[in-house]
Amino acid sequence: MNNYSTFGFGYDSDSKNDVAQICLNGHLVNEATKNAPEFSSKFCGKCGQPTIDKCPLCKAHIKGRYQATKKPSAISSPQSLVPLYCHDCGKPYPWTQLTLDTARELISGEDGLTPEEKASIAENLPDIITQTPRSPLAATRVKTVMEKMSGVGKEGFKQLLSDVTTESSKRLIWP
Ligand SMILES: [Zn+2]
Ligand SMILES: [Zn+2]
Repeated sequence: MNNYSTFGFGYDSDSKNDVAQICLNGHLVNEATKNAPEFSSKFCGKCGQPTIDKCPLCKAHIKGRYQATKKPSAISSPQSLVPLYCHDCGKPYPWTQLTLDTARELISGEDGLTPEEKASIAENLPDIITQTPRSPLAATRVKTVMEKMSGVGKEGFKQLLSDVTTESSKRLIWP
């Protein structure tokens, strides 16, 4: 053991997690930038957005592949490795913020909803994209308001959020 690991900044040689590189839209570009830097790139090959490997707010490295597993390859990159929130400061990563902001923008354009309903759905969104004790309540509230949205609004809302909504909330909202 060396003393460096206890400070937890920089590239910690004792760390079991590699560092991931992800584009601002949330595409996983490289799940192991330390172990396989050859897969890193400045921009995303899927959407052209710049990539980051640190939280823009607190600069903590984004956790990547757990190193105990086999050697990484570009093909096996599972999108499920993309975290929604920074493990160090708890703030949403840019792609999570983008999804939440876009959903709120979509809701604000729904003329059939009251300001209270719009506020309710916006407030409950964070609890349907991650599992919390509030998730079942949040999912039922989101569903209640969503039922009052226009057909096209409902469809847009589903397309935007179904990929990031947890399985249990999904079952309540889109059974
Ligand atoms: Zn991308
Ligand atoms: Zn952070």
